[in-house]
Amino acid sequence: MGSACRLSAVRPGKTTVGRIVAHKLGLPAVDVDDDVLEVAWKRPVAAVLASLGGRQFLEAEGGALCQFSASGCVVSLTGSNPLHAEAMLHVRQSGLVVYLDVDVEDILQRLGRMKVNRIVGQEAGVPMRDILLYRKQFYEKWLDVRVLCGRADTEEEVAEKVVRAVQRYQSRDEETYVSTRRSGEERSKEKAYFSDVAVEGLAADGGLYVPRNGFPQVDAGEWKRLVPMSYPERALLLLEKCIHPLDVSAADLRSMVFKAYGSNFFSEEVAPVKHLMEHQFVLELFHGPTGSFKDLALQLMPQLFAHCLPLMCNYLVVVATSGDTGSAVLSGFSRLSGVDAQRTGVLVFFPEEGVSEIQKLQMLGFGEGNGRAVGVLSDFDFCQKSIKRMFGESGLAGYLAVEYGTVLSTANSINWARLLPQVVYHSSCYLDLCRDGAIRFGEPVDVCIPTGNFGNAMSAIYAKQMGVPIRKVICASNHNRVITDLINTGEYDLRRRRLLLSHSPAIDILKSSNVERFIFHASDGDGGLVEDLFTRLDTQKHFRVAAPLLGRMRQEVQAGCCSEDECLSAVRRVHARTGYLMDTHTGVAKAVADRLQDGSCPVVLCSTAHYAKFAPAVFKALGIQNPPEDPVEQLRQLERTAPRPGGHRDMLRGLRGGSGTHSVCQADYRELEEKVESFIFSPPSYESNPISSSPPRC
Ligand SMILES: *Cc1c(COP(=O)(O)O)cnc(C)c1O
Repeated sequence: MGSACRLSAVRPGKTTVGRIVAHKLGLPAVDVDDDVLEVAWKRPVAAVLASLGGRQFLEAEGGALCQFSASGCVVSLTGSNPLHAEAMLHVRQSGLVVYLDVDVEDILQRLGRMKVNRIVGQEAGVPMRDILLYRKQFYEKWLDVRVLCGRADTEEEVAEKVVRAVQRYQSRDEETYVSTRRSGEERSKEKAYFSDVAVEGLAADGGLYVPRNGFPQVDAGEWKRLVPMSYPERALLLLEKCIHPLDVSAADLRSMVFKAYGSNFFSEEVAPVKHLMEHQFVLELFHGPTGSFKDLALQLMPQLFAHCLPLMCNYLVVVATSGDTGSAVLSGFSRLSGVDAQRTGVLVFFPEEGVSEIQKLQMLGFGEGNGRAVGVLSDFDFCQKSIKRMFGESGLAGYLAVEYGTVLSTANSINWARLLPQVVYHSSCYLDLCRDGAIRFGEPVDVCIPTGNFGNAMSAIYAKQMGVPIRKVICASNHNRVITDLINTGEYDLRRRRLLLSHSPAIDILKSSNVERFIFHASDGDGGLVEDLFTRLDTQKHFRVAAPLLGRMRQEVQAGCCSEDECLSAVRRVHARTGYLMDTHTGVAKAVADRLQDGSCPVVLCSTAHYAKFAPAVFKALGIQNPPEDPVEQLRQLERTAPRPGGHRDMLRGLRGGSGTHSVCQADYRELEEKVESFIFSPPSYESNPISSSPPRC
């Protein structure tokens, strides 16, 4: 390690761990208690604490640390050092702060064994546990790197983890991303960091980004530590492992995650899992502000995006939506503040006649701030193609960069920063099942996912790669069964397939983009093969995977589909039997799980939307004739019909506040371009300060 690198291990047991680490690294070990404080004070530390009292002791201790400088050694701090801001600033300047994140109960036991009966802060008779919990916030504030210690970890094991954590910090180049379409030599030249892929979306060769070295492994001891934690805490610890600290520091990640998964979710648990019947559970992914699972990704992704943007340019995110993505993107980006909000705008194009009344009202509810939704008198395909054109031959993107200093970007579901946050809820669900006693850690579960673009399913596969004991990912389709056919026959065939309307429109998809990541994964990263297959899909509308690869795909994924009637009847039966009302996408998952899952382990149905979002289809499922026309009344009536899972607070509020006028374009590419340009020139709430007012400097 570099000579300027100092390692500061915080936490009891740290002295021993510090010594082992120092030994492994061939560096001297320094213990602040023994080697700094006692030397400076020429008295035992305990005696100084007894005579000064806590507050003065902290000052004296911090002052002594400020006087102490060292490099190229491993320093074990005291448990109270992190409470002294000036001292910690000093420490951080010359080294790396490693936080040994030990379970509080373990610390209490260790202190008991050591017969420690006094630590700083204890004078007032505050229980030791409270002091430790109070200190945690300071440890969290100063850490560069966290080492999550399992409750059974030995000091040797912890030291090993420390060494690996430090190595990780120093090897950002090990955590780069590659395109699914490159192989061999080409790939080794590439260097895309998290910051790049969070902004870029698609790779230059048309492939999707994936981590070069796969996902980090989380060991059983670490998973168990996560069991008692809250959703944002779990999210933070898991994402710290997946995003290199030099791309997003632990402190920045913390503030983003806690902002993303806070009171904007109307369940404190964020993504609670509920028992449905027998061995079936429902993972409720609809408690976010817009009522679909897309919020889980899109409340966080804009913050990561804004954080990773290169300085100097402004960004305009253009999105085509067939429904749920639009409001989720607008909601997520609307929560940016300050400079981030000024630098990033969002423009959503939706098929004016092709989205539900509720979806439209939800999007138009975000008509202020840095986002705007525009209706297009055409279908989703036209919106999507027009956006592709803006980035491609039209030259619009280049023109906007030069003329306005504004870079066009997209936030679609292939963006890595959108996929990654979804790994958290699959993990969190498993941990909740452990916490609630439904399973013991290590026992398998299946998850059944209504699948469109395969993002949700792919993130479950990644959660499994990190160590979550998921047995099968069951992909559920409606009668647009392209994924089901792929998994069951090995053939991806668009040649004679037309998109059929359904009661579960969010999975009405023919080109399922994240399947590319899955095939990359199942083929052990064969970029040449992926390139070949997906080029063929583009040009010949068809490909077939070879039997051995199909076998590997089927080891992880099962797939099934259901008819429209089966979906509606699943919603009706569940409601009649349990009082639980699910939306039609969840209904697809339920119907398919009933058919495919064998009951030998629990199965989690991913509920990707609140029933209110697809109210007309849900009325139909329940056999309710002549439902009210007014969306607000629709929601009210459904709420009265179903004791569970309760109404969606924000959706109701949004619908009441929504409507007003919005602009609508003809099915003419030029008109869409004009919308983009006029938006850049005067984004909604920054009339006085258009994002184009800063000089073009790209
Ligand atoms: C987007 C969406 C899906 C599809 O998710 P993918 O990750 O694209 O498979 C399923 N259900 C609902 C309600 C959605 O909004």
